[in-house]
Amino acid sequence: MSINRTVSDYYKDELMRISKVTPLAGSSAFLISTKQKAALVDSGFAFCADKMIENIKAVLGGRPLDSILLTHSHYDHASGSGRCRLAYKDLKVVASEYAAKILSKPSALSVISELNQSAAEQYGAKFSEGDLGDLSVDIIVRDGDTIDLGDVSLRVLEAPGHTKCCISFYIPRNKTLISCESLGASADGYSVAPGFLVSYKSSVNYIERLLELNIENLFVPHFGVLRGEACAEFMKRALKTSEALKDLIVNDYLQGKTVEEIIEHYKDVYYNGNLHSIQPPRAFYMNAEHLVPMVIKEMVLPAN
Ligand SMILES: [Zn+2]
Repeated sequence: MSINRTVSDYYKDELMRISKVTPLAGSSAFLISTKQKAALVDSGFAFCADKMIENIKAVLGGRPLDSILLTHSHYDHASGSGRCRLAYKDLKVVASEYAAKILSKPSALSVISELNQSAAEQYGAKFSEGDLGDLSVDIIVRDGDTIDLGDVSLRVLEAPGHTKCCISFYIPRNKTLISCESLGASADGYSVAPGFLVSYKSSVNYIERLLELNIENLFVPHFGVLRGEACAEFMKRALKTSEALKDLIVNDYLQGKTVEEIIEHYKDVYYNGNLHSIQPPRAFYMNAEHLVPMVIKEMVLPAN
């Protein structure tokens, strides 16, 4: 497995630091640390979590990781929690109520395990079922809740659209947002991979709500941080790209294409070389099989 062990800071000021700790771009995780506390936003894949923990230790030294804040329950964001629990005994996993429900379901855990296995194969790494460990959620948070990290506090924003369980974390003091994938994801910080799996409309509402916050540091899932004007530009591009994908689906459907044909059209236009690094083909198809029928149901069928 070719992995990146270098730890670097995405953001640093006198009160806080946000560091890159993921060994693989497909495995989403950002480390926020203050003088008093440390929290990992998302825990990435399970099969590379031990490498990630080495990176966390490189930042924190002997200090503990206090919490994992999950943006949602997908396997590329929430699978590393069990390995982290083994390394940090008092660690608390924080997520939305819906994410807690999903992460307690044996059927969901078996899908998570299976997807880790197939991603591990893709990266030439090893993974077996027992490696997942305990992925359960300890603390449930809701829209507007505050998470105390000592000198810095985070506000929870419920942001359904990518999944029902999506939440984002906003740091008012420096207008920093660590976003869930209802914004979309990106491999390069420019192109947007739309992520609306359960609702196009909710995703658009969320992005429009973000634009009003005048974000100065935007953490984009699977990419890293954008600063200044690039934040609003990314959000506007996310809105345009999402609308264009919605239109592609609606037009294809109205022309009589099947869901399978629409998914292939979607893949040809949106799943470019760039995206392979953050989303394996299997995950693309699993997502598209939700997204395409959802858009037809949400955008076409009510009008008929
Ligand atoms: Zn996801």
